[in-house]
Amino acid sequence: MRKVAIYGKGGIGKSTTTQNTVAALTEMGKKVMVVGCDPKADSTRLLLGGLAQQSVLDTLRTEGDDVELEDVRSPGFAGSLCVESGGPEPGVGCAGRGIITSINLLERLGAYDASEDLEYVFYDVLGDVVCGGFAMPMREGKAQEIYIVASGEMMAMYAANNICKGIRKFAQTGVVRLGGIICNSRNVDNEYELIDAFAKELGTQMIHFVPRNNDVQRAEINKKTVIEWDATCTQADEYRALATKIDQNEMFVIPKPMATETLEGLLLEHGVLAA
Ligand code: ATP
Ligand code: MG
Repeated sequence: MRKVAIYGKGGIGKSTTTQNTVAALTEMGKKVMVVGCDPKADSTRLLLGGLAQQSVLDTLRTEGDDVELEDVRSPGFAGSLCVESGGPEPGVGCAGRGIITSINLLERLGAYDASEDLEYVFYDVLGDVVCGGFAMPMREGKAQEIYIVASGEMMAMYAANNICKGIRKFAQTGVVRLGGIICNSRNVDNEYELIDAFAKELGTQMIHFVPRNNDVQRAEINKKTVIEWDATCTQADEYRALATKIDQNEMFVIPKPMATETLEGLLLEHGVLAA
């Protein structure tokens, strides 16, 4: 089973990209589970056609430990399996710990058992690994393969570089590796070249350049992935291309995070000023 986690700056497009990629993988006949690790619990909305009925932490709060897999895992688009970790009571618990609790419960309920025949699990993770709790999926081998969503905007690259510091820390003692940078375009001038150079500097690859396209919003309003909403549109093919590249990926590295000056140098050399 491939254990994948998607990281990236807040609002960069992690949940959208994850769900569309999962839709493409299920379309290819893969068996995939998505685990949302965000208190917003919106990591599976497009696959489920609406927000999940109950998160793992809500279920634990209302029903105690007497929980079945079906209580916390719902079937989504094309046979995908959807779980939302959910959040602690606002102002009380730690969201990072909630992720740990959720993954442990899923393990106990057999969600990862060989009999489930899962080919992929995708963790959609909030935050940029400043808090150790959000690094949880990459600790202890829960997630082995990380993709970082970034764009040509400086803060997105800054966050991606920080996430690489986290990956490097856990990679040195564990199995986690970086599989690539997914460029989710913000239509910044020279963005393709910039993120391509950024990925190379980190010792990885830009695995795909996902164009910005309003069909993503049109599908989102309809609570669908682009692939379900209009399987023939060009953006659907972009997510299929990304899914195929992930499926065939063989480049897994311990990233080399860069100094802030190097990052700024990259922006000067390849970014908007060079366009
Ligand atoms: P958070 O950190 O809050 O969880 P996120 O990284 O999961 O955010 P999303 O919720 O996936 O980000 O995306 C933010 C917004 O960007 C969404 O409204 C989505 O429609 C839009 N978006 C994402 N990718 C694209 C794209 N390629 N083209 C157009 N719009 C996009
Ligand atoms: Mg999200």
